[in-house]
Amino acid sequence: MNANNDKNIPAAGDPPRAPQGQPRETPTPKQVLEHSHSRFRKRKKEGINPGIVIFALVIIAVIGVSVFVLVTGRGKKNYTELPENHVPVETGEVPQETCDYVEVDASAVHGGQLILVNFRYPYEFPEDGEGPETANVYDNCRGMLKVASMADSLDPVTLSRLVSFASDFEERTGDRCFMVNSAHRTYGDQVSIYRSYSETLGEEYARSYVANPGYSEHHTGMAADLAVVFDDGSSVPIDQYQNYSIMREMIPSYGFILRYPEEKVAVTKIGNEPWHFRYVGAPHASVIEKTGLCFEEYIEFLKNYTADGSALYLASDGILRSLPFVDCALVHDSALIYYVPLSEGATVSVPVPKNAAEYQISGNNVDGFIVTVTVGSAPDTVSSVDGSVAETAQASVLTGEE
Ligand SMILES: [Zn+2]
Repeated sequence: MNANNDKNIPAAGDPPRAPQGQPRETPTPKQVLEHSHSRFRKRKKEGINPGIVIFALVIIAVIGVSVFVLVTGRGKKNYTELPENHVPVETGEVPQETCDYVEVDASAVHGGQLILVNFRYPYEFPEDGEGPETANVYDNCRGMLKVASMADSLDPVTLSRLVSFASDFEERTGDRCFMVNSAHRTYGDQVSIYRSYSETLGEEYARSYVANPGYSEHHTGMAADLAVVFDDGSSVPIDQYQNYSIMREMIPSYGFILRYPEEKVAVTKIGNEPWHFRYVGAPHASVIEKTGLCFEEYIEFLKNYTADGSALYLASDGILRSLPFVDCALVHDSALIYYVPLSEGATVSVPVPKNAAEYQISGNNVDGFIVTVTVGSAPDTVSSVDGSVAETAQASVLTGEE
């Protein structure tokens, strides 16, 4: 899941430290308010005019009540995996004592398995113009996939996960029928494809289904168009294939999402493509599937989860919740996901919990990094989504950029 990112350096696996002190209690509303708004408190100390202070207090009260409702109403389960005697730390800042910092080059925002490439954010080709490292599909698929072209290639991790999926799919259904119809494309490939669609099917069709050169996800090597072709040469449109629903059910746990669903055409600006799958890695594919977000919306949604606030938290029971980042050092058997915005300067300090067994930092190709931390052996699949996370996801769709 993480071999295609140079920045993926396993951290020392310190076991979670046993916290000292008083028995843990559910935070009181006051603690929750103080914890959530310590940044506001900090600003007050610097001496601002009283009108602003009163205004800020009213806002804090309104937000505070909402936070209280969310935390007390739905958040209690967040703590079920934590040690009994944990005392919440009051800070709105990144907890220094529980994190290490990884210096990441700001230009790495354009690389990694979670880059968003769409009509607005082009793929940043490496300076040598060669594109990403890829592996030939036919040579590396162990006979599990058919290919439309012997030259087709994919990002090596993407290909290996696709082969695992095809193999497990055959075991479950008896069918070995997936053909990679289109895989990695260079800039020149995309120019030819756009031109040929436009000439044969018309400019309007080309505009709906073919991205402009530079703006195609196929440039990343992490997108594949799949077709269903049986050994006798017969084929069926993929969404009419009798086991398509089984495929859709299985494929997120191998890290793939259906990238251009019918109901998200207004957001993706690409027509319904039941054949185009994008590798984003598990558990992201599983979260995207369960929250019902498309990739554009997911990138926005993740901005709600930061190291100076809460992280998305996928515990061993498979339920997706949010967790105050200060508590990250105390969890085990979980996956944590959070966003680190780009800052001024050539490098960005990315906080990573000291108890991470494994972590991965990916650019989002927009404005920051997404950190995926595994502590212990977390599940790859999300079985359900906690109410407050579902509400945040919904809010992201309503307020997020397109
Ligand atoms: Zn495609």
